[in-house]
Amino acid sequence: MRHSQQERGRNGYPPLVEFCRAVVRLLEERIVCHAAVIKVAGIVKESVVDGPGLRFVIFAQGCPHRCPGCQNPQTWDPAGGTEMTVDELLEQIKANPLLKGVTLSGGEPFLQAGPLALLAGAVRERGMDVVTYTGYTWEKLLELAKTDLEIRRLVEESNYLVDGPYVAAQRDLALPFRGSRNQRIIDVQASLAAGEAVLAGWG
Ligand code: SF4
Repeated sequence: MRHSQQERGRNGYPPLVEFCRAVVRLLEERIVCHAAVIKVAGIVKESVVDGPGLRFVIFAQGCPHRCPGCQNPQTWDPAGGTEMTVDELLEQIKANPLLKGVTLSGGEPFLQAGPLALLAGAVRERGMDVVTYTGYTWEKLLELAKTDLEIRRLVEESNYLVDGPYVAAQRDLALPFRGSRNQRIIDVQASLAAGEAVLAGWG
């Protein structure tokens, strides 16, 4: 059966075929998303010390920064940790309706930017916020993001970024949510709009 131009959609297929193709694409994306693997050093299902409100915390395995005085050296080896799928983590997050958000800590989350960006996007779709810790500075991340789309995506899927390495000489126990004075809590969306690091109004 032939179809007139009006009966065809944007891509030249009849509308029903285009609809089916769109559904298949969505399902494929969802399958890829949920099957993506994250190497995890550990999780904390309820925390009030890793960002504002009650949070689910994922400690990503692998860190290249090797800050002297790091509290989590067991996270450094990228070959260590346990593999969990995005779906497994999402199920645990969805099980707790009291959560305000999810914190991606480490280790260095940007070593696994692709799958963590998928998880962060799914978390934000559910109305929660995402705080991402990184040993990179905001400026260095933006430089890396110019050639690495997965890093770009994880930056964009984060509401807040706690940036910079832990510097023992600048250790300050009075600082909320971070260990040393060089580390900043950055409002990601405001910073992307302004073209420079904009500090969050909390912490
Ligand atoms: S960035 Fe964080 S996890 Fe990595 S070495 Fe520094 S303090 Fe440790």
